[in-house]
Amino acid sequence: MKNFALSALALVGAGTLSACAEESANPAAPATGEVNIYTSRHYDTDLALYEDFTRETGIKVNRIEADADALIERIAAEGEFSPADLFITVDAGRLWRAEEAGILAPVDSQVLAERIPANLRDPENRWFGLTTRARIIIYNKAKGAPEGLDTYADLADPALRGRVCMRSSSSVYNVALLASIIAHEGSDMAAAWAKGVTANFARAPQGNDMSNIEAVAAGECDVSLVNTYYLARFDTPEKRAILDKIGVIFPNQGTTGTHVNLSGAGVVANAPNRENAVRFLEYLTSDKAQGFLANGNNEYPAANGVAPTSAVQALGRFRPDPLRAAEIGRNQARAVELFNAARWN
Ligand code: FE
Repeated sequence: MKNFALSALALVGAGTLSACAEESANPAAPATGEVNIYTSRHYDTDLALYEDFTRETGIKVNRIEADADALIERIAAEGEFSPADLFITVDAGRLWRAEEAGILAPVDSQVLAERIPANLRDPENRWFGLTTRARIIIYNKAKGAPEGLDTYADLADPALRGRVCMRSSSSVYNVALLASIIAHEGSDMAAAWAKGVTANFARAPQGNDMSNIEAVAAGECDVSLVNTYYLARFDTPEKRAILDKIGVIFPNQGTTGTHVNLSGAGVVANAPNRENAVRFLEYLTSDKAQGFLANGNNEYPAANGVAPTSAVQALGRFRPDPLRAAEIGRNQARAVELFNAARWN
């Protein structure tokens, strides 16, 4: 299992010389002008960010890319000999799992405390949100928005029987949403919601957010739930024609606010280059870096006062759910249980 995780790792050098974090794995070596990033973000645009940081500070960025859980497992296995300085991933649940695995250390930084809103970071400052994405309702425009559909709760209304497409409940995006419903309304209401939505499925859960957008556009079902940035990926003339068939609803605007998940980062407990890691993390919250991060994948900047400039702006302004992201982490295991009980596969 562990070997599989290790062999699945992709080693990528961010600089012009292909640099590999393994080279700095000697625990006896003093901290150098480097920072070693273990990331499950894999957007090419993030590369520009690493290069910019190096240009500004002279600190070289080495990065290892892999699936978040493989990285957590690897950092835990490497223990005090881990070259990892900074862990970056998407999903509040994964950040919480990293925290629970004990691989992250608190960072006492005034910059981070001021830049990142309290609900988008760990109360004990072991991880910090960098960008957010909203999970919104989409509907088929030709069929029209189902009457009275403006909350997540409405998706469980029997009026939608046979009209809802969803991806699997194993998706962390769905787990995080249900975890937020547990936090707001309690387990019983959340369980009833999962059952109600499952009863409304037009077909067995399948595909990803992209294919569910296509299914709604094609009229295979009337509504679905997707992350905002996927809509921005329909950016060629052909894809634009698909997107034109889609209407969007930011749910819960009159109640809890629209559920948002985040991408974020935490400094590793045994970071050999801790100072550089904190510096890089602080840099990631700067206006410039927030622009790189958010625009690269069409997300919303997490930092205070940074306006979104990416394509998702065209979807409109909305009120996000101010729930602490840590609550999503805390409730994720329960959410998985409720999905299973509802047979939302
Ligand atoms: Fe995604």
